[in-house]
Amino acid sequence: MTPPGNTSESMGMQFLEFAHVCERLEGTPGRLDMIEQVAAVLPGLDDEELPVFVRFVMGRVFPDWSTKKLGVGPNLLYDAVAYVVGTKRETVREAINTTGDAGLAVEGLLARKEQTSFFTEELDLTGVYRELERIAAAEGQRSQREKLRVAQWLFGNARPLEGRYLARLMLEELRIGVGEGNVRDAVAKAFEVDVRLVEHAHQAMNDLGAVALLARRDPDALSRVTIEPFRPVKMMLAQAGTIDAQVEEHGEVAVEYKYDGSRFQFHKVGGVCRIYSRRLEDVTESLPDIANLLLEATDHDVILDGEAVAVQDGRPMPFQYVIRRFRRKHEVDAMMEKIELVPRVFDILYLDGETLMDRPLAERRKALEGALREHVTPQFRVTDAAAAEAIYTDALDLGHEGVMVKVLDSPYTPGVRGRLWVKVKPGVETLDLAVVGAEWGEGRRAGTFGSFLLAVQDQGRLLPVGKVATGITDEVLADLYALFKDRVIARSGKEVTLEPEVVFEVGYSEVQTSPNYGSGYALRFPRFVRVREDKSVDEAETLDSLAERYGRQRNGQGSF
Ligand code: AMP
Repeated sequence: MTPPGNTSESMGMQFLEFAHVCERLEGTPGRLDMIEQVAAVLPGLDDEELPVFVRFVMGRVFPDWSTKKLGVGPNLLYDAVAYVVGTKRETVREAINTTGDAGLAVEGLLARKEQTSFFTEELDLTGVYRELERIAAAEGQRSQREKLRVAQWLFGNARPLEGRYLARLMLEELRIGVGEGNVRDAVAKAFEVDVRLVEHAHQAMNDLGAVALLARRDPDALSRVTIEPFRPVKMMLAQAGTIDAQVEEHGEVAVEYKYDGSRFQFHKVGGVCRIYSRRLEDVTESLPDIANLLLEATDHDVILDGEAVAVQDGRPMPFQYVIRRFRRKHEVDAMMEKIELVPRVFDILYLDGETLMDRPLAERRKALEGALREHVTPQFRVTDAAAAEAIYTDALDLGHEGVMVKVLDSPYTPGVRGRLWVKVKPGVETLDLAVVGAEWGEGRRAGTFGSFLLAVQDQGRLLPVGKVATGITDEVLADLYALFKDRVIARSGKEVTLEPEVVFEVGYSEVQTSPNYGSGYALRFPRFVRVREDKSVDEAETLDSLAERYGRQRNGQGSF
């Protein structure tokens, strides 16, 4: 087979070495040991390898700001491996089902083939990255064939251990437990810089690979990094809390309506703009109305943070309408007539070349009001809980979800779910959980999945907290089957393992400790609320925050 790309002959890190590092990390349970091991590798890498290694070891191929996608599903992987090993797609699928792990299964299959063939080419780290870039770049009608050709070439040259990590990288899930926090700490350690500087630069640049490079070349520059237009940063997130606690702690707070729509980040330089979803996908083409409204409302170069809401006769419409528009690729115009979307802008991160994320909210608010003529959300400053309660009641009367209570002197902290923004809303408690498995249904639910296994995240791992089967109508059940049927990675009896890509919002009455699930907790009366199409699995509830909920419950405080 001829190589489809120009794999370099550099003497740098071989992919096999990378695989060995991963293997060692996979067998390392302790966080500190893990950090130590990653930190030990970084200084020896050249400038091209360093960012690639940093991303790969977290199971990511491209910078987090990048909208590039590999677009390799299980079927493509089965086909590529089947071709290389000289077997059928079904055999590969079965091997993966039996082991429950695509990486180990591919390793086993390649080991069988190894006895009968020789490698043609050594894979090196940056060479593999370049090939993965080719896979991502393949577009149009022939894209699947092109992706397959590159994947075949990669597996054709992979030793069994390399195959293990190549397969997992292609599915963008390395399963070695090295999360963003560990790598951030390792970068700080390797280049002897303050971990807070690394974190700060990471929030602005949204690519730990580039941050690692900067930490080595020019550590002083870490504190001066700026946000670049058209490289979206992660959204700042909110925690559930109470008005009372927030007012008591901070005195004066900013109260805003909590709109029930979909988050967006709007970037504009001159006449050019892009809109990114909460998962940082480029959704500009689906939202021409939002783009036009915001382009008309400002003469500045800006990055804005806001919520797209659907309205009809002046009243907000449910979230479902908004999400339909975000996903829309075809017939955008027809859909636009049915659902009118308007932007509600509540923050500004960048203004005419200047990064504002470190400025206090009060200052950013002024900048926002100065930069945008329309579509800025109302913001009320209050110093007592009663005034905030009144706004909360108004918010519900107006059809909003509740209120956000924000700390006035807080910076904008991308990706952080902290107490600087607190959400207050009525109703049942809900959790956003990753769906990691399902069970075939019985009776009326035969032929579809009847219940779903849910998990919280912890340092890059997903730990089960229970199953949900109630609250799902037959119609939704059919939708869910369609959503998950191509995400099955392993089967065992009635149970299937799913590629963890979907987040459910789930209601519950209580968090309990439990030896039955990997997280150590279980939910009482779990009830399906909806698919959080706007959230990715790395935004699912964390184990720490679940433990905190459990603790709050025991203290009898509840979360609202
Ligand atoms: P949740 O998705 O339940 O964690 O709540 C946080 C979300 O509320 C944010 O990610 C936004 O999409 C949305 N939101 C609505 N109104 C606001 C607001 N005024 N400020 C910040 N976030 C808001």
